[in-house]
Amino acid sequence: MPAQLMDGTALARRLVEETTAAAADITRRTGTAPCLATVLVGEDPASVTYVRMKRNRCAKAGIGSRHIALPASTTTAELVATIADLSADPDVHGILMQHPAGPHIDERAAFEAIAPEKDVDGVTMHSFAAMGFGLPGFVSCTPGGIMRLLDAYDVGLAGKRAVVVGRSAILGRPVGMLLLAGDATVTYCHSRTADLPAIVREADIVVAAVGRPRLIRGEDIKPGAVVIDAGYNAGNVGDVDFDTARARAGLITPVPGGVGPMTIAVLLAQTVRAAAHQLGVQAR
Ligand code: NAP
Repeated sequence: MPAQLMDGTALARRLVEETTAAAADITRRTGTAPCLATVLVGEDPASVTYVRMKRNRCAKAGIGSRHIALPASTTTAELVATIADLSADPDVHGILMQHPAGPHIDERAAFEAIAPEKDVDGVTMHSFAAMGFGLPGFVSCTPGGIMRLLDAYDVGLAGKRAVVVGRSAILGRPVGMLLLAGDATVTYCHSRTADLPAIVREADIVVAAVGRPRLIRGEDIKPGAVVIDAGYNAGNVGDVDFDTARARAGLITPVPGGVGPMTIAVLLAQTVRAAAHQLGVQAR
């Protein structure tokens, strides 16, 4: 029997519906709509498209947005000052700085100018540490989306062997920490890992977060395993060889339509949660 698909599109739609209702409720009760500020440095076409998409999705959910487009020549100091202003602005509840900001920018300095209570993209050291300690805060959106998918499909984590392939600060590393918090036994793999297939073969849960088309082969998937493919490569191809993996897995995310839609849905949900907190209302 081929694996059951984990339908990220449907789950994201439900989360966005809940978020839309919560945004409307906040707006009705406070007279202020939740607002996300997006900051873009330069005109990289992919980044322009991502930011536009995020703003459109905000608008559909009843979340306002304020867009700050800065020239590619912007310095780190100017970018930090812009973000610090947004952090201090009571009309802005969440801040998203689109990555990459350019090779001459100290992105860490820019991210750290985001006030923790407005870090709805989960990129600051404060958010990362809070997640690591299991304290309240905002999680990085893609890992947050993956955890919601696992929860929606009743994937128990306790005692499971989870293998995370990839260790980036926004994806692999935090998703491993969240799986650990759920009592999974977590192994990280990366570009220097020896014999990746042997480690993948032991996994009850595989999270692929690399950016290499079909790196994970179906023959290495343990029968019945849960396969989460966060990879997104040219031609709508994931990091897992979908057809062969589906034949062995118990649950698997498609690409597209698995992890991808969850990322923006979590961003919107966290923006509304931030607004509720800052406006002093309980989100319903
Ligand atoms: P990244 O920063 O480039 O990190 C890639 C990770 O993969 C690194 O840790 C790297 O190891 C590891 N890696 C590279 N080659 C490997 C190999 N042959 N074997 C094992 N590990 C290897 O990428 P990212 O930002 O985490 O993104 C990863 C993928 O997820 C991309 O396809 C991206 O498009 C996708 N993504 C999707 C979403 C979404 O919303 N669905 C969001 C973010 C990212 P080292 O650390 O040793 O270099």
